[in-house]
Amino acid sequence: MTTTKKVPAYAAQSATSGLAPLSIMRREPSPEDVEIEILFCGICHSDLHSVRNEWSEFMATNYPIVPGHEIVGRVTRVGSAVTKFKAGDVAAVGCMVDSDGTCPQCKAGLEQFCPNMILTFNSPDKHLGGFTYGGYSGGIVVDEHFVLRVPFNLNLAGAAPLLCAGITTYSPMHHWGVTKGKKVGVVGLGGLGHMAVKFAHALGAHVVVFTTSPNKKEDALRLGADEVVVSRNADEMKKHAGSFDFILDAVSADHDINAYINLLGIDGNLTLVGAPAKPLSVPAFGLIARRRSFSGSMIGGIPETQEMLDFCGKHNITADVEVIPIQKVNEAYERLLKSDVKYRFSIDMASLKSE
Ligand SMILES: [Zn+2]
Ligand SMILES: [Zn+2]
Repeated sequence: MTTTKKVPAYAAQSATSGLAPLSIMRREPSPEDVEIEILFCGICHSDLHSVRNEWSEFMATNYPIVPGHEIVGRVTRVGSAVTKFKAGDVAAVGCMVDSDGTCPQCKAGLEQFCPNMILTFNSPDKHLGGFTYGGYSGGIVVDEHFVLRVPFNLNLAGAAPLLCAGITTYSPMHHWGVTKGKKVGVVGLGGLGHMAVKFAHALGAHVVVFTTSPNKKEDALRLGADEVVVSRNADEMKKHAGSFDFILDAVSADHDINAYINLLGIDGNLTLVGAPAKPLSVPAFGLIARRRSFSGSMIGGIPETQEMLDFCGKHNITADVEVIPIQKVNEAYERLLKSDVKYRFSIDMASLKSE
């Protein structure tokens, strides 16, 4: 029988309840496990979608739900077979906590595409039954393979969002060969977009940010953009026609994707990391005429997530965060809906102790 330990958390009991304190159980570390005291957890838009059961058609929420998959903390205990971590280390956990380890995707380090991948929250928990609980909690116990090392120089509150927003934007840039001399577009300057700008800039690309709000221009330049285009301005858009190597589209609202496909050069690629609810309409000639491609991407595998964190350590990259106590989480969700945050909330988990 698995023994357990009680930890404080914040959970939602229904799609409309909001988040409130709840004690949850974590397993005692098995030989392969790392036990982590959570210091910071970022707030991702998918936390909000899951809490409110907005993705019910393909991933219904099981209540109570403890969201959070941008986790940074300190190792408190390790199992006897753990080799990469010891008590006192700073460690991180992202969107996944397990996979089968045997399928071709796992063998290739692409655990995010494993048919048996277990998400950090709202996935079946094979150890304790019920469903996995995420990072809005005091601690978590995770198989060593899914625990990441955090470079010592990074600010921990700002490092937390790297575990989802960071890898989600780094992985497609890596895959599509963003390097020095490439022209890269970033559509939408939010939690994902602002990370994309930092990565593309650090990789040496010429970075162009597309935004609907002219007042974001200064901030985009500060984050590392070389140019800012107001996407509502047709003349400005036309100037860039057929010139991009790669465009990352981080917009989840309904929008005209073809306006961006037309900006790609020969063999250019546009990758979606946002998830608009309605199907997008793409005319074939937009792709055929210049051998353009249109693709999607979802987080990244464990080896690539570690590579991304190491890259962030080398270039001193973290997310721009507003640190909040857990007691402000419901308010933060409302502000997230209005894009009223620059550019990610990071919850200081020390605040859980005052519950
Ligand atoms: Zn996320
Ligand atoms: Zn697998």
